[in-house]
Amino acid sequence: MNPANRPFGIAVHGGAGVTPRAEMTPERERALRGALAASVSAGWAVLRDGGTGVSAVEAAIRVMEDSPLFNAGRGASFNRAGFHELDAAIMHGGTLAAGAVGAVRHIRNPIALARLVMERSPHVLMVAEGAEAFALEQGVPFAPASYFFTDHKWQSLQARLEREAKATLAAARAAAVQAPAFDPGLAGTVGAVALDRAGNLAAGTSTGGREGKLPGRLGDSPILGAGTYASNDGCAVSCTGDGELVLRLCSAKEASDLVALARRPLDEAARAVVARVAALDGSLGLVAIDRRGAMAMPFTDEGMYRGCAKEDGVVLVGIYDEMREAEG
Ligand code: ASP
Repeated sequence: MNPANRPFGIAVHGGAGVTPRAEMTPERERALRGALAASVSAGWAVLRDGGTGVSAVEAAIRVMEDSPLFNAGRGASFNRAGFHELDAAIMHGGTLAAGAVGAVRHIRNPIALARLVMERSPHVLMVAEGAEAFALEQGVPFAPASYFFTDHKWQSLQARLEREAKATLAAARAAAVQAPAFDPGLAGTVGAVALDRAGNLAAGTSTGGREGKLPGRLGDSPILGAGTYASNDGCAVSCTGDGELVLRLCSAKEASDLVALARRPLDEAARAVVARVAALDGSLGLVAIDRRGAMAMPFTDEGMYRGCAKEDGVVLVGIYDEMREAEG
């Protein structure tokens, strides 16, 4: 097929566990919709110009990392000790090349560092000080801890710690052995999946992780197969939601395998994966795309910040059930 006529497209998410409809203000909704549309447009422009899916995913995620509205990069959630530890992963569906970083503290765009791990290191996953030393060597932009600070995330952590302090020890013990109930306030991870004109899929995810997590905790986002996965044989997937459950279920790889091995249509595969998490009382949202350009964006809860565009460049954005054309 002439590359000019090949399908291409991008889908992004800005996290499951949205602000409940009753509490959403018009200003906040406008700001979120605008940021999601800007992310889709950045990725879409790369694809239109013949760029790779990996470049499109990185471009789209950078926009959301730079926005204080999402739990990634600037505006990331705080861990229990009151600082940020950021995780990200990126994967190429054609070659299965992948790179990921975990618990980095001073990297302005963790998705860019994940890509460099993929392209310029012999490894797949690097964490903490070692990952930052590699970043320094690669000339990646650093940012001071204050750059990631936002007052609303700080207040949210304080409120959480207060609530937890009031809980009884018995309840805390019970919570530690059961799958922790997912709190919508924790959400806001960002991710993107793309199909480029060369027919390659790509996926990426970036996050500050669960609010109030223990220092050193890694979630599903930087773990390939769990929160992030791409294979041209199946599909590209980026997850958001209950990371501890997604880590155990390998949700992203499961979706891709359902397409590649069980030959399930993308939409059915994506819904099956989300339903499995829901059956365990967990929360999950994901964006997925296959080689034909089919997209799926299912979620378990009231909504998921999301957006997409296909070849025609029409940008659709959704928060709750409906998807609407982006303004402007
Ligand atoms: N899945 C992310 C994590 O566990 C959180 C989220 O999606 O909001 O780190």
